[in-house]
Amino acid sequence: MPAAFIGHGSPMNAVENNRYTEAWAGLGSRIVQTVGAPKAILAISAHWYINATAVTAMAKPQQIYDFGGFPPALSQFSYPVDGSPELAKRVIELLSPVPVISDMTSWGIDHGTWSVLCHMFPNADVPVVQLSIDATKPAHYHLEVGRALAPLRDEGVLIIGSGNIVHNLSIMRWDMPGLGDDWAQRFDTETRRVLTSTSPGQIIDLLEHPDARLAVPTPEHFFPVVYIAGLAEAAQSSLDVLIEGYEFGSTSMTAVSLD
Ligand code: ZN
Repeated sequence: MPAAFIGHGSPMNAVENNRYTEAWAGLGSRIVQTVGAPKAILAISAHWYINATAVTAMAKPQQIYDFGGFPPALSQFSYPVDGSPELAKRVIELLSPVPVISDMTSWGIDHGTWSVLCHMFPNADVPVVQLSIDATKPAHYHLEVGRALAPLRDEGVLIIGSGNIVHNLSIMRWDMPGLGDDWAQRFDTETRRVLTSTSPGQIIDLLEHPDARLAVPTPEHFFPVVYIAGLAEAAQSSLDVLIEGYEFGSTSMTAVSLD
């Protein structure tokens, strides 16, 4: 089963159609056509960034509207997927001896996940489990967790990371739709170079890149791609760029896929 990192951008992408959402939809239908529908999806979203490693283990996860200031169409948008307690259990097994919390109440499916999956699998007919990003852990931990999840790919599970490689909301330029500042382009281009090389795991070194201070002011949107780089390392493979682009100077929409 393939795996992918998606730059999710604005929550509004859930209800819009643009060249990014078309690329996500295209990936979803290519997967169904080539290897068949996934048994389940494991999503690693920037928006579940907590002081623990946890999985959503409920059979009917709630949809989380973790944003404010958007039109009602978005807070009424429904993507009613099932969970998969079996997959949650399997993730806990694979990550052992790392302690993983089996979450029954605190989280569900957040917009980092549903704003992308509603384009990839519009019928909401593939069960979804989320894996949290442990904010207390260094970058190499996230790479190792990604690597440890590799057996799931042979078990029909689609693994999706959802974040943004360049993500600085404090200096967005509303006069730059579809464009990236120079530093944003330098950082994203270097990230793509590493991800498409034979050593995608070197992505964690980019947190020391001169432009990282602006491109990755906080790591939660960057870490999801680190998990996908870990999967690529496990497969001894490089990643392919699915789509690239920038929005409002200080965000990039790059997406990459594995197989
Ligand atoms: Zn986000």
